[in-house]
Amino acid sequence: MTAFTTRELEDALTRKLMINFGKTAEEAGETEMLRACALVLRDAMALRGVETRRETRQKEKKKVHYLSLEFLMGRSLQKNAYNLGVLPQLKEALEHLGFQAGDVFELEPDAGLGNGGLGRLAACYLDSMSTLEIPATGYSICYELGIFKQKIVEGQQVELPDAWKGIGSAWLLPKPEEARQVRFGGTLREFWNDGHLHIVQEGGTTVLAVPCDMEIAGYNTSHTNKLRLWDAKSPKPVDMSLYSKGEYLKATEDEAMAEVIAKVLYPDDNHEEGKSLRLKQQYFFVSATVQSIAEEHMAEFGTMANFHEKNVLQINDTHPALVIPELMRILLDDAGMGWDRAWEITTQSVTYTNHTVLAEALEKWPQALFERLLPRVWQITAEIARRWEEQCRAYFRDEEKVRDTAVVWDGVVRMANLCIAGGMRVNGVSALHSEILKNEVFQNACAMEPEKFTNVTNGVDHRRWLAEINPGLHGLVCDLAGGEAYLMDPQALGRLDAYADDREVLRRLSDIKRRNKEEFAAYAKQQQCVLLNPDAIFDVQVKRLHEYKRQLLNVLHIIALYQRLQDDPNAIARPRTFLFGAKAAPGYAVAKRIIRLINSLADQIDHDPICSGKLQVVFLENYRVSLAERLMPASEVSQQISTAGKEASGTGNMKFMMNGALTVGTLDGANVEMHDVLGDENMFLFGLRSNEAAALSREGYLPQRLYARDPVLHRVLDALKTGFRDGVSYEDLYRRLLFGDHGAPADEYLLLADFSAYCDAEKRMAEAYADPERWNAMSLRNIARSGVFAADRAVAEYADRIWHVPHRKVR
Ligand SMILES: *Cc1c(COP(=O)(O)O)cnc(C)c1O
Repeated sequence: MTAFTTRELEDALTRKLMINFGKTAEEAGETEMLRACALVLRDAMALRGVETRRETRQKEKKKVHYLSLEFLMGRSLQKNAYNLGVLPQLKEALEHLGFQAGDVFELEPDAGLGNGGLGRLAACYLDSMSTLEIPATGYSICYELGIFKQKIVEGQQVELPDAWKGIGSAWLLPKPEEARQVRFGGTLREFWNDGHLHIVQEGGTTVLAVPCDMEIAGYNTSHTNKLRLWDAKSPKPVDMSLYSKGEYLKATEDEAMAEVIAKVLYPDDNHEEGKSLRLKQQYFFVSATVQSIAEEHMAEFGTMANFHEKNVLQINDTHPALVIPELMRILLDDAGMGWDRAWEITTQSVTYTNHTVLAEALEKWPQALFERLLPRVWQITAEIARRWEEQCRAYFRDEEKVRDTAVVWDGVVRMANLCIAGGMRVNGVSALHSEILKNEVFQNACAMEPEKFTNVTNGVDHRRWLAEINPGLHGLVCDLAGGEAYLMDPQALGRLDAYADDREVLRRLSDIKRRNKEEFAAYAKQQQCVLLNPDAIFDVQVKRLHEYKRQLLNVLHIIALYQRLQDDPNAIARPRTFLFGAKAAPGYAVAKRIIRLINSLADQIDHDPICSGKLQVVFLENYRVSLAERLMPASEVSQQISTAGKEASGTGNMKFMMNGALTVGTLDGANVEMHDVLGDENMFLFGLRSNEAAALSREGYLPQRLYARDPVLHRVLDALKTGFRDGVSYEDLYRRLLFGDHGAPADEYLLLADFSAYCDAEKRMAEAYADPERWNAMSLRNIARSGVFAADRAVAEYADRIWHVPHRKVR
C-alpha cells in the first residue's frame, strides 16, 4: 500500500461524499466532510489490518491482547493521517475542496472512553504496539456515553452526557457476525459423559456482545492493529406479538436491559464502584474477549495446549481480572482439560499491571453478588482461592499472612490477590510505585513469589504529545537532533542537551513557547471568554480532581500570594497565571467543593484591581485529551504535587516535560525518575519523601500545630472559612484540613506539612524564571531528557521482559 497523493485523497473524499451522503464536495457540510475523511482513512487502515493479521497468522506469531476497561483515545483524524504519512496531503486536499482543515479537525469529538491516566496510557500503548510492529489487539466496551462533559455553572461542576458516537462511530467497523454470547445468573447442572464431569449454566440471561473494531495504524509502518470495542445487545428478537398487542415498552424491555451494560463509562478515577452493573460490565467484556481469542486460537491450531505460547493477556489494573477464571472456564469446560494443566496455561498467559496503592481503589466484590451473577466463574474462583490459600498456609504458617494474601476472605473477593495468584507477572508503573508494591502493599505475596514482581515505568506517545501538537518545537528538534529520526528513536532527543548554552537555540526555544502561549490564549478567549496574559508565567495543574493530587495545596499557595499582594502591591515581580483543569467524579463531594473553591478564588482575583496584570487564576472547563493537546505546548510550569507515595506514576508530568515545562513536584511516581535524569538543578523538588509521609501519617500527625505556629498558613486557612466575594464559605474544607470529617483523618494528604516547602519551591521557580537564559536552558534539558518517557521505550520493555514477543527496535 502506498501513501495517498493529495489528488488521490481529493478523489477518494469526493467519492465518499457521494456514496455515503449523496452530495458533492460543494454541497457537503463540515460534519459530512469529517465523516468522509474518517471513512477514507478507515478503508486504508482496514486493508493494512487485513494484511497484518494474515501475516501474523501465516507466521504463527505470538499475539498480545491488551484488556482495559478504559481507552482514552481522544481524536483520531489527525493521528491516523499522521501515522499513515498523509497529514499534509489531507490538509491540502481539504483546502482544495473548499474546507478549512483546522475547522474540520476541530469538529471531531474526543473518544473519551476513559477517566484519566490509566485510559490514556492504554491509548498511547496502542500506538506504540502498532509502531513497534507487535501483533496486538486492545479490548474494551463500546460505551455509548464516554466520560461526561463538564460545564462550570456558577462556579460549580455540572455533568452533561457525552454522546460521542454520532460522529465518532465513523472510525468503527461493526462485525455482528462475530458476536458472542455472555451468560449471567442461572443455575449449574452437572453431569458425567465420556468419563468427564460436565458443568453447564442454565437459565439466567444472555447478552450478545457485538464487536466494533477500530483500526490502529502504526507510524512509519504498514503494521496495523485494532481496538475491539464490545457493544451489548439483546439476543432475543423484539417480541412482535407484544407489539401487536400495543405493549411497546414491554416488547423492548429485554433489549433495554441488555444494552444498559454498554451504556456508560463509570466516571470514578482511582475509586472502586462496588455496583452490580460494574461487575456485569467487567464480565461482559472479559468473557466476550476470552471467547473470541480462544476461538481464533482453536481455529488456527486445533488445540488449546499451546495457548500460552501464542497469546499473552495483559490486564490494565484489576478491572479485567475475571480473565483468570474465565480462561480457566474455557480450558476446563470447553477444552476438557484437567485443573492442573488449565492452571499452568492460565498462569503463563496472564500478566497484571497495578495502577494504584489507594485502599479505596482496590477492587473487592461481595461473594454473594459474584456468586449470583457468575455461578460457574464463582465456582472456579473459589477453587483458585482454596488452592492458593493452601499454598500460602504451607509457606507462611502464619494465619495473619494467609488472611492478607487470600483471594476470598470474609465473604469478599479481592481482585488484586486474584491477579497475583493467577498472573505470570505483576508490575507497578514507576520505580517507586513498584517498590511500594513489593515492600508494603503486596509484601507477603512478594515474599512467596518474588520472581513475579517487576516494574515498567509508564511512557507517553511522543509522536502525539510532541511532534503532532507542537510543530514549532518539532521543527527545532529536527534541526538539532538529526531530523525526524527521533520519531522512531526518542532517545535521540538527548542531542538537544549539547545546546543548553547556545543563546541562539535558547532564543528560538523561547520564541516557540511565546507563540504557543499566544495561540493558547486565543483559543481560551474563543472558548471561554477569558483573557490570558501571555507575559505571565503559565503555571498549570491539569489532571483528575483528587485529594491525593493536592489541587488544594496549589490553591492554598495562591491564596498566600494573593494575601501578600494585599499587603504589598509590588510583592509580585513577574505576573503569574495559574491554570487548572480537572473533572471530579460526580459522587465525590469534596472534589467538587475544591472545583468551586478554585472558581471562587478566580473570581475574587479577577475583580481585585491590585491583581490586574499580576495574578490570575483560570479554571479551564472540560479537561480532556484534545484540550491537553492545546495546553501542553503553552505550559511553562507543571504542577506534580501529589502526597509522596500516592501517585503510581503520572503521565501528565511526562507530557509537560516533553514540551519544555519545568516541574514543581514531590518525589512521587515517575517524578523520581525525572529527578534521576534532571537533577535538583533542572526541576523544583519539595516536600516530604514517601517514607517520611508514611511515617508522619502513622505516628500521629497534628495539622493544628502547624496552623498555630505558621502565621502565613494561619491566615490562608482563615480565608477559606471567610470565603471570597461570592459569599461562599469553605469552612467545610477548613475543617477537613484541621479536624477531619466523615471518618477521614485531619489533613489526610499532608497539605499543611508540605505547605511551606511548597511555597519555597514556587519562590525558587519564580526566581529561575526571572533569568530567561537559565530558564530556557533548563527547559531545553527537560525536552532533551524526556526520551526515556516515550511509550515506545515502555512497550519495548513489556515486549522484552513480560510478553516475550519480538518487536521493531527502539533505542
Ligand atoms: C495525560 C492525561 C491524564 C493523566 O494526567 P496525570 O497528571 O498523570 O494524572 C489525565 N487526563 C488527560 C485528558 C490526559 O491527557
